[in-house]
Amino acid sequence: MLIGVPKEIKTREYRVGMTPAGVRALVGHGHKVLVESGAGEGSGISDEAYGRAGALIARSAAEAWSADMVVKVKEPLPAEYGHFRQGLLLYTYLHLAAEPDLTRELARRGVTGVAYETIQHEDGSLPLLRPMSEVAGRMAVQVGASCLEKERGGKGVLLGGVPGTRRGRVAILGGGVVGRNAATIAVGMGAQVTVLDVRAETMSYLEDVFGGAIETLYSNAENIEMMCERADLVVGAVLVPGAKAPQLVTEEHIRRMERGTVVVDVAVDQGGCIATCRPTTHDNPTYEVHGVVHYCVTNMPGAVSHTSTWALTNTTIGYAVAIANQGIVAAAKADRSVALGINTHGGHVTYGPVAAAHRLEYVPVERALG
Ligand code: NAD
Repeated sequence: MLIGVPKEIKTREYRVGMTPAGVRALVGHGHKVLVESGAGEGSGISDEAYGRAGALIARSAAEAWSADMVVKVKEPLPAEYGHFRQGLLLYTYLHLAAEPDLTRELARRGVTGVAYETIQHEDGSLPLLRPMSEVAGRMAVQVGASCLEKERGGKGVLLGGVPGTRRGRVAILGGGVVGRNAATIAVGMGAQVTVLDVRAETMSYLEDVFGGAIETLYSNAENIEMMCERADLVVGAVLVPGAKAPQLVTEEHIRRMERGTVVVDVAVDQGGCIATCRPTTHDNPTYEVHGVVHYCVTNMPGAVSHTSTWALTNTTIGYAVAIANQGIVAAAKADRSVALGINTHGGHVTYGPVAAAHRLEYVPVERALG
C-alpha cells in the first residue's frame, strides 16, 4: 500500500502523523511511505531523517494525499477537502461530532474515515486518546506552577516550597489518565497533592501507586469546596464519557479562593469542570476571574509537539500497520477496536453518535463493510 503523510496545516499544529520509526515499520512490511517535504519540521524531524528511514519525499500536499492511505494528526480543514476521493483511507483524529461539513464531505466522497478518538478496546478504554491525556496531565502541573509565579498573576508560591516553608497545595479533580499524570508531576515537584474522584477503585489504585505521597478524597460538593479554598493550584481532569463535563467548581468557589490561586481546566475540551472556564489558545492561554488565574487551553499537547508526536505515533503505528497489511475491511473484521474507529465508509456515516449529532442516516459499520 502507498501511505501518505501530509504536513499539518492547522494554525500552530506542529505535530506530524508519523515518525521515522513508523516509516521504518511500514516499509519493513513492504509498504511505501510518501512524506510531504517539511511535514516533520515542527517536531524536529528533517526530510533527510525520513529519507534514511526509507520514506519517499513528496514535493506537494497533493502528492502526499494521492496515496491509498493518508496518516495525519488533526481533522482535515476545508482547504484539504479537495483531496478526498472514493476509496481514500484517512487515519487521523476526526472529532466528527463537532464537524458537520467534514462529516458530509467524507461521506459524500466515499472516504473511509478512521478516527483515532473512537478506536476503543473492549474494556471501554480509548488507546489513541490516552497518550494525549498523559501529555496534558503532566503539562497541567508544569503550566500551573509557572502561572503561580507573581509576574504571571499567581500568588507567588513555589509548589515544592523550601525547607522551613509550607509546600504548595494541589487539588486534582478526577483521578483518571490526566489526573494520575498530573499527580505524578506534582508529587515530583514536592507539592501536597489531593486527588478527588467518585470511583472507589480509582482511589484505591492511586493510593497503591503513590503510597502516602498523595491523599485521595471522595468527590462531593463539601470536599470540593474545602479543597478549592485551600489549594494553590486546582487541576480539572474529570470525564464522564460521552457527556459534557460536570461543573464541579462554581463561580462562588472561585470567588472564595485566595487571589492568585491558579486553575488549569484540562477538561475544557468537554466544556470544562470549572464554571468560569472558557476555551483559550496557546497565543493567549490565561485570563483572570475574581483574581484567580485560569488556564484553559483546548489543545495543550500541541505546545510540546516533539513529545506529543512520539507519544501519539507510538500508539497509532500498530493500527496503521495492521490496516495497511490487511486492508480496512479485513482489519476491522479481525479487530473490533478498528471497526469502532471507522466513522465513514462507502458513502455512509458508520459511527452512531456522529450520525445522531448531525441527524444523518446511521449505517452500522458491519453493514457498510459488507
Ligand atoms: P479518564 O476517563 O481517564 O478520567 C476521568 C476521571 O474523572 C475518572 O477517573 C472518573 O472517575 C472521574 N470523574 C468523573 N466524574 C467525576 C466527579 N464528579 N468528580 C471527580 N471525578 C470524576 O479521562 P482523561 O483521559 O483523564 O481525560 C480527562 C479530560 O481531559 C477529558 O475531558 C479529556 O478530553 C481532557 N483532555 C484535554 C486535553 C487538552 O488539551 N485540554 C488533552 C487531553 C485530554
